[in-house]
Amino acid sequence: MTATHVPGTPVIEDGWLISTNPATGDEAGRVPVADEKAVVAAVERARAAAAWWQGLGYDGRKTRLLRWRSLLVERIQELAELTHREAGKPVTDGIMEVAAAVEHLDWAARNAKRVLGPRRVRTRLLVAEHSGHLEYQPFGVVGVIGPWNYPIVTPIGPISGALAAGNTVVLKPSEYTPVVGQWLADTFAEIVPEHPVLQTVHGFGDVGGALCRSGVGKVAFTGSTATAKKVMAACAENLVPVVIEAGGKDALIVDEDADVAAAAEAAVWGAMTNAGQTCIGIERVYAVAPVYDRFVNAVVEKAAKLRTGEEIGPITMPRQLDIIRDHIEDALAKGGTAVLGGASAVQAPYVSPTVLVDVPEDSSEMREETFGPTLTITKVRDADEAVQKANDTAYGLGGSVFGKKNAIRIARRMRSGMVAVNGTLTFVGMGNLPFGGVGESGFGRIHGEDGLREFARAKAITVRRARSLLPATTFERTPAQVGQIVKALRLLYGRKP
Ligand code: NAD
Repeated sequence: MTATHVPGTPVIEDGWLISTNPATGDEAGRVPVADEKAVVAAVERARAAAAWWQGLGYDGRKTRLLRWRSLLVERIQELAELTHREAGKPVTDGIMEVAAAVEHLDWAARNAKRVLGPRRVRTRLLVAEHSGHLEYQPFGVVGVIGPWNYPIVTPIGPISGALAAGNTVVLKPSEYTPVVGQWLADTFAEIVPEHPVLQTVHGFGDVGGALCRSGVGKVAFTGSTATAKKVMAACAENLVPVVIEAGGKDALIVDEDADVAAAAEAAVWGAMTNAGQTCIGIERVYAVAPVYDRFVNAVVEKAAKLRTGEEIGPITMPRQLDIIRDHIEDALAKGGTAVLGGASAVQAPYVSPTVLVDVPEDSSEMREETFGPTLTITKVRDADEAVQKANDTAYGLGGSVFGKKNAIRIARRMRSGMVAVNGTLTFVGMGNLPFGGVGESGFGRIHGEDGLREFARAKAITVRRARSLLPATTFERTPAQVGQIVKALRLLYGRKP
């Protein structure tokens, strides 16, 4: 490692990517860096492996994916500790992350055949003599580009959908967490040693760019909105489809009939779990006036008990510390007040819990992703104002509502892909619910039925089953037959007298 090395910042030396712990600087491991040729070679190997993997069929793939799921459960402690060593994440946070990954793997493996497998569809009038058939076919090779903040569950979401659908995968883990990414590929190879069904390619952003241009059939990207745009541009060169899971600025709304203590507990966890480095983390709260004071007091009381180095791990990406400090300083300079923490809460590599009130809506703390254990709380007149303010952002990933009578109605009005009512982040725990954003948070879905379909192309087949009585698709139809078609259309679809 070089003398100027900042703990937690990845470096490349002699063709190796060296990954270090952000709190201690200890090396977590090293992996070989891929160049463009190596990326293309990995994708070619994956393409050859795809024929074998597809040939196993849904049942053969299910058996193997469930075995890998069980391996993750058996080695949950080992993986959580590795994530702690590499990203600084508290071991218990790592365990919860593996738990969510296991859920998605299990659901995708068990449901792929039902969701994607061949089925008959009902025939329609114009071609009644043909039967309809639908199935979803894999793309071949899917490129998965991952972030560092949830290095287990964020790649496993698209990986489980892609593999269950019959694709093979080349994963480009974040340069901040390559060792965890490699662990995933290595353990998969223990279960499926025959062919390289899940491989990794390592390096900085250029390796991700090379993966987009390598001939993969689809790219699943999880990371920042700025990088998402570069990924889309690279994929556009060859019309490679993409699913984009990008950043967020999620809001929690506290309505007047909310259980205030439960809302405060959920807000603190939603904002500060994983040291706030969560795409669907709660960054803003809008609390209606009648409950505002009680809510702020409860949040401060609970957040003040969290200790850095214990519940609050280090900030994984060292340069994020400056962004967090800038956001807090901007909020305070524009008239906000820190009721807990403040700019001095940023003490590398940690940020202690910070709760801000009266922060103007135009400050960076309200508009940009902070990605630290900070929370703003804003008093609003009523739920309508809360929804309007919550939605006043370019992002739209998740969200949360605490309340009773109108909670679901409020949830529906939030401009986001997911909302948890009387909870935070809970939608990640359900493998049968789709996950993804709107606006600058991205598009497309992972998880659930939509997440499986994201990794397959719909294939429609019609099969003639009888001679045509009303031939529509031939030059040989007679004027009388055309007349009969018109008559049938009028009968079925015309306005009733
Ligand atoms: P990032 O955008 O910096 O990096 C993500 C990945 O993209 C990394 O593997 C990186 O090497 C790669 N990359 C960088 N430049 C590239 C390029 N030009 N072409 C291709 N690949 C390139 O994001 P990050 O800092 O690792 O992750 C944090 C971000 O991820 C936050 O914005 C967070 O909200 C978001 N995130 C979103 C979700 C979600 O599901 N929506 C989940 C987790 C994290």
